Amino acid sequence: MINLEPPKKAGALVNQAYQAAAEVFRPISRKYDRAEHAYPSELDMFAALLDGLNGSGEGGAGASGVRRGDDDGKSNGNRNGGNLSTVLGTIEMCWGDVALLLSMPRQGLGNAAIASVANDEQLERFAGLWAAMAITEPGCGSDSAAITATAELDGDEYVLNGEKIFVTAGQRADAVVVWASLDRSKGRAAIKSFVVEKGTPGFEVVRLEHKLGIRASDTAVLRFENCRVPKENLLGTPEIDTKKGFAGVMQTFDNTRPLVAAMAIGVARAALEETARILAEAGVTVDYDKPANSQHAAAAAYLQLEADYEAAYLLTLESAWMADNRKPNSLHASMAKAKAGRSVVDITLRCVELAGTLGYTEDLLLEKWSRDAKILDIFEGTQQIQQLIVARKLLGKASAELK
Ligand SMILES: Cc1cc2nc3c(=O)[nH]c(=O)nc-3n(C[C@H](O)[C@H](O)[C@H](O)COP(=O)(O)OP(=O)(O)OC[C@H]3O[C@@H](n4cnc5c(N)ncnc54)[C@H](O)[C@@H]3O)c2cc1C
Repeated sequence: MINLEPPKKAGALVNQAYQAAAEVFRPISRKYDRAEHAYPSELDMFAALLDGLNGSGEGGAGASGVRRGDDDGKSNGNRNGGNLSTVLGTIEMCWGDVALLLSMPRQGLGNAAIASVANDEQLERFAGLWAAMAITEPGCGSDSAAITATAELDGDEYVLNGEKIFVTAGQRADAVVVWASLDRSKGRAAIKSFVVEKGTPGFEVVRLEHKLGIRASDTAVLRFENCRVPKENLLGTPEIDTKKGFAGVMQTFDNTRPLVAAMAIGVARAALEETARILAEAGVTVDYDKPANSQHAAAAAYLQLEADYEAAYLLTLESAWMADNRKPNSLHASMAKAKAGRSVVDITLRCVELAGTLGYTEDLLLEKWSRDAKILDIFEGTQQIQQLIVARKLLGKASAELK
């Protein structure tokens, strides 16, 4: 029988994440939305709690929980591991506030990238580091194969040059995982990721962006000018294998896309719960035993939004579960990200509408959630790019065949 409930063993983690979201994130949500670029110092205590959870071997409490552990090949059982717990914890925390989750020390997308591709020595060396992720450049976003930043080997160091834009936590993080090419004539196979720590000469934070949503999260422009990093800071293998193409760095997305989908689900659930409360106060109840077309129009609309939410939620859990069980999940990670990204935008905007004038005011967080939602359909691959990946996978086409 199919069991669609989250695993019992994740219960304690989910509970803790929910409590923290309700007691730490929600009360300061509006404050840091207004105080764009101010660091939410309340997060320090909370980050220490997450570190404790990770250190106690609970795993999956933060971005580094997405590592796929060693498999001896003997285990045939169903595995509910770090990817699933991380997704479940992320949903809860983003129910509290997605921008604050993105501001959490040591929980950056760079941490997920390190967890995904670092070797054991690197994992140990970079433990405790807060890492942002820098892929996007002024001339390259969706098409990450067009990266122009370079990394040239000189003795025992790589020399990095280039500019990165829209880097989440780019100012606050201790380090950045930077995508750069070892040899631009060799195309995408030459793109590797490098850990660059703050304070490294030649690494500069140029400016911060002002944004529509997720204002509590800092978004930075970074410049690398003859920035030298030890050659051991290259994540994965330095070999350029043109047969494998993008495989090394792209592996990160299989783990991070379910996480971004989870962020979308957390925000969508927050908006749905608030709207259900407002509708109930207005005397509109949603009846799950009656067809939608025989109910109040607002209740019927609500049922439709919930159906989208459920579909996104199940796809996201499935893609994380596949990662835990070592099943190739690129297709499912993109399906989850596409469905969750689109749904959170639809759901939050429709909730603003269903709540009437109240939905548009700053008295509630509904308007904020509708602003925060859009980025979840953009970063880690836009809606259109996820659909393109899904189409390629289903049709068996290479990226050169279907653009
Ligand atoms: C707040 C914020 C935070 C971010 N954080 C990070 C971060 O931490 N690290 C990082 O590296 N980047 C980050 N980004 C950048 C983000 O990942 C990119 O904005 C995104 O990948 C899209 O790239 P682009 O903006 O260059 O748009 P483009 O690639 O120029 O795309 C523009 C439009 O065209 C569409 N499009 C492009 N190619 C195709 C195609 N082949 N078929 C159909 N449609 C297509 C896109 O979907 C999009 O709608 C962030 C962006 C924002 C706004």
